[in-house]
Amino acid sequence: MTSPLPAGLYLVATPIGNLGDLSPRAAETLRGATRIFAEDKRVSAKLLAYAGAEAPMSTYHDHSSAAERAAIVARLGDEAIALISDAGTPLISDPGYKLVRAARAAGHAVHTVPGPCAAIAALTLAGLPTDRFLFLGFLPPKAKARGDAIAEVAGVRATLVCYESGPRLAGTLAALAALLGSRDGAIVREISKLHEECVTGTLAELAERYAAAAPKGEIVIVVGPPLAIAAVSEADLDSALDEALARLSPSRAAAEVAERLNVPKKRAYARALERSAK
Ligand code: SAM
Repeated sequence: MTSPLPAGLYLVATPIGNLGDLSPRAAETLRGATRIFAEDKRVSAKLLAYAGAEAPMSTYHDHSSAAERAAIVARLGDEAIALISDAGTPLISDPGYKLVRAARAAGHAVHTVPGPCAAIAALTLAGLPTDRFLFLGFLPPKAKARGDAIAEVAGVRATLVCYESGPRLAGTLAALAALLGSRDGAIVREISKLHEECVTGTLAELAERYAAAAPKGEIVIVVGPPLAIAAVSEADLDSALDEALARLSPSRAAAEVAERLNVPKKRAYARALERSAK
């Protein structure tokens, strides 16, 4: 039998595909909770049945109001409330941070029960550097905003991780290839499910591969960090400059390419002048 939990808010990570990834502690917390808040009750019903959790379920999602949050917080003094999302770790591209803040501001205990997270699982599969990474969540769907968001992080010396849907994958990969240049990437799909796969290649290769047909299932894009200064060959620099010079003046092309490839501006500008004089 599960012992009752002390009152407070419990953030419980749930599987991202394989129910077997529900941790014993997560299951015990769900069984011990007096109420469970989920994004979508229908989605979570199967998981709660699997965990043997019988507490009443209510919804908490992106559109939950401040008043709904206050009502949850008001219960925390004498109830053990679990927050779960449709899959994975609550709060990671999912609702919850405002609730955590409100619970803590009201002096209630907040506990996390860590577990599956698609971003972290994708990083483990991608075979790209993991010492520094930047999680971008979902990039904006519209092309201009998406391009701006990618350009903003082009110079960051870290592996990039973002969530994406099948229908938008090709467009996002084309934008990543155009704005980040020659970097390695991985498309990690259906983690922990029957058709789990990790496809690796340069961003241009991946963009080409997925241009023809949108893949099914859930997807994480992982992009390796910019090439180290010494690793940018003359050929890479020339091809990036030629592409930029078709759109921009030599100084602006040099600035863009220097940022993108992480090469000194002086080197890029000198080469841009040579290329544009041809
Ligand atoms: N909170 C979740 C987590 O911890 O990973 C993420 C929630 S977010 C709303 C859903 C996105 O996560 C999907 O669109 C997909 O990009 C990614 N995702 C979730 N499950 C996945 C899986 N099994 N394989 C690959 N990506 C997954």
